[in-house]
Amino acid sequence: MIGYGTYLFKKFTLPGGQAPTSGGSLVFPTNLTSDKYDAAAKCLNEYIAGKRKKSPLKTYGMNFIKTGAKGDVNVNPALLVAIAGAESEWATNGRLVGKLGAKVNCYNFYSLKATKYECPERVNNQDWRKFNSWEEAIDEFGSYMRRRYLSQGLDTIEKIGVVYCEKCANWIPNVTTYFNEITKECPIFAPPVLVTGQARRLKCNDYESMKREYGDCQPVCGKLKGNNESAVELVSVEYLKNPSKPRGAKGKVWVHKKVADVFKKVFKEIAESKVDYNFTDVQSYCCRYIGSSICRNYSLHAFGLAIDINPKRNPHCPFYPVCKKENVLITDLPPQVIEIFKRNGFRWGGDYKSSKDAMHFEYCR
Ligand SMILES: [Zn+2]
Repeated sequence: MIGYGTYLFKKFTLPGGQAPTSGGSLVFPTNLTSDKYDAAAKCLNEYIAGKRKKSPLKTYGMNFIKTGAKGDVNVNPALLVAIAGAESEWATNGRLVGKLGAKVNCYNFYSLKATKYECPERVNNQDWRKFNSWEEAIDEFGSYMRRRYLSQGLDTIEKIGVVYCEKCANWIPNVTTYFNEITKECPIFAPPVLVTGQARRLKCNDYESMKREYGDCQPVCGKLKGNNESAVELVSVEYLKNPSKPRGAKGKVWVHKKVADVFKKVFKEIAESKVDYNFTDVQSYCCRYIGSSICRNYSLHAFGLAIDINPKRNPHCPFYPVCKKENVLITDLPPQVIEIFKRNGFRWGGDYKSSKDAMHFEYCR
């Protein structure tokens, strides 16, 4: 059932501040980490081959995964495969994919129209997009779904189908069926149940998963400001400036909304400890890279997952004069404060081997 009712293919630009995390349960599954790609690709390939033995897509599972995983795409590969099934029976049906007497294969198994004549095959007197390979079609289609659908608030198969193929009665039920089949046969693609305030604690260096789970503010090298800060949803959390004075002054920090409950619990336990310590200088969210010049890895401050306490008395070596030459642990943090953070899932910078960062706690594993 080829749905030749698709929308024009053209470059859409996102309105400012669009979050690449939008897309509801159709975003790339956060538990699908790169070490699981091989098994997941195999499962996709077997699914496609099981649906249509002759499908040329039955060896392209990894392409679907890598396209969906791109930071600026962030789409569930199961959706891309399900639509391929509904549009062209996994690239086996129609002149746009070189069948039914076509002279040229346009690899256009998603039936994407062109703004001008591209595919040399004339089908239904319409202009169609031409791709040069299955890989290129998958890649372009992933970006297209992100720009035109998920980032526009069309975040369910029903909402997508109404726009994508408004005259195709079968599109929504077919895509839904295929999507459900894939996520049942290959559960790694099943959308995670996201609950606000319930944070998943990810690996500290798994930046790609973090971007998907918490949003990507797109830090700029050498600056403390990102290109897309609205992608990270922050809430403010209060703390007692000195826990030994329960009625004393309060401060607040901005943290990711998914970890707000974790921070609240930490501050509550610190307050209950009644420790006599002044939290005078506390910083949290800041869209930046680790270090100022390397610009390779994101700081967890860029996700709203990290907090710095009293930097002057808890310096980050070797960036502070006091420990410029020697990597030593200098801290005035009470042991119970450190213990409370750690018990609640935080890693302490004072435990780092290569570079002591005593002020720093981050929520990751
Ligand atoms: Zn820090």
